[in-house]
Amino acid sequence: MASFASFNLSKDLVHALNKLGYLEPSPVQGKVIPKALSGKSLVCQSETGSGKTHAYLVPILDSIDMNLPRLQSIILCPSRELARQVYEFAFAFTKFFPRLKVRLFTSETEKTQNKEGLGIAPHIVIATPGRAKDILQNEYALDLHGVRSIVLDEADMLMDLGYFEDIDSLYEVLPETIQTMVFSATLNQGLKQQLEHYVDAKFLYEGEDFKTASTVAHHFVDIKHIGKSEALARFLEIRKPYLALVFASKKEDVNAAYAHLRSLGVEAVCFSGDLDTRERKKALRLIKSNKFPVVVCSDLLSRGIDIEDVTDVISLDLPSDLAYYYHRAGRTGRFGKSGDSWVFYNADDLQRAKTLLAQGVAFDYYTLKADAIVPTESSFLARRKIQFKHEVSEQEARDISIAKAHTKVDKVKPGYKAKRRKAVEKVHGKYRRKAIKEKVREQMGRAYAAKAKKKD
Ligand code: AMP
Repeated sequence: MASFASFNLSKDLVHALNKLGYLEPSPVQGKVIPKALSGKSLVCQSETGSGKTHAYLVPILDSIDMNLPRLQSIILCPSRELARQVYEFAFAFTKFFPRLKVRLFTSETEKTQNKEGLGIAPHIVIATPGRAKDILQNEYALDLHGVRSIVLDEADMLMDLGYFEDIDSLYEVLPETIQTMVFSATLNQGLKQQLEHYVDAKFLYEGEDFKTASTVAHHFVDIKHIGKSEALARFLEIRKPYLALVFASKKEDVNAAYAHLRSLGVEAVCFSGDLDTRERKKALRLIKSNKFPVVVCSDLLSRGIDIEDVTDVISLDLPSDLAYYYHRAGRTGRFGKSGDSWVFYNADDLQRAKTLLAQGVAFDYYTLKADAIVPTESSFLARRKIQFKHEVSEQEARDISIAKAHTKVDKVKPGYKAKRRKAVEKVHGKYRRKAIKEKVREQMGRAYAAKAKKKD
């Protein structure tokens, strides 16, 4: 493994890195820093947790002329939380470089610090794209001629959030020779096309796929027929995680799970889009204080935010965009530590579960029992059949109630439940077979009609 010194960085920067606890470059840093130092634009596929922030901060810091009071680098992040985190990483270097000026611009900072005016021009601006455009072009009309590099961090999310128009208009006023560094957890076709505007294809550099850290173990948990919130409470009681992030796609599920845990006296923090800026800041502070063992959150927290020591990630469902599963799981197993990602299996998620398996995520299987989380030998996904659904007709409903009445007994006798279930199942079976036959007939009819049409 190369050392930071082997990149020909300034001695002061290597010293600062070591003092900050960064002794050796991470794999992504090892690949990206030398490329970035050459001044070439690059695209790097890399997840938060891989050390990607310093993969661009280090070359930026190395190339900045701190004696020149001029803006030299812009870092764009999709959320204010992420922007603040990058700002804090960059600000840490001012201890070693007192002349270094770093500024953060988000909708949250504008009300306070930026009213004072800008004073000396910062060397590095970290911002959300909308604010960057306003601040750089309109409000402070900063001199942009000295800008040598721009970072698009979490570019796939910048695109999802529709920020590319703001970025486009920013490029119109930036020097043509600017170095662009793109970091993205996923690189799909749409994003690649979008990036061609900014990055010369010759220099398109795809880093390794850091989709899932090898230190994360993935598990499906069969929660049987227990509700998600209740299953979660039971799971936490048994597992007793050091710090668990619990994800749900719908905010109703986030709120319900949080309320249920609180009603049981579990110390938990809730983080979702429902919170206003002040509440979000407070929640994030509480989360980072490490005093709460459970955080229930929406996918807002699945991207970019660096929360140390997450031991368990629990997904109450699988997100419709499976990229978010990787983001969720990526909150643990960071920087070589081990972590567990648990998915509460729900029959509605069958297809998504299969897709994850097909993508090579090595899940194992557990069942949630009353007082234990028990390993299950083989995949319950394979055993579980997709239910054939058909409308219950009036006749069927009548037949079912007759079947139920027929097996009704006043006193509970041994075996009566099974007997009754069998009788009802028989009626169901009869109608299911009928419905399947009708469907097959209908499909064959259509096939014959199509054939006949071809012959004509
Ligand atoms: P990131 O992927 O940028 O969110 O970084 C994840 C975590 O790794 C942060 O807490 C960083 O402080 C830490 N980190 C980044 N680079 C290094 C390094 N070379 N050695 C140790 N820790 C690092």
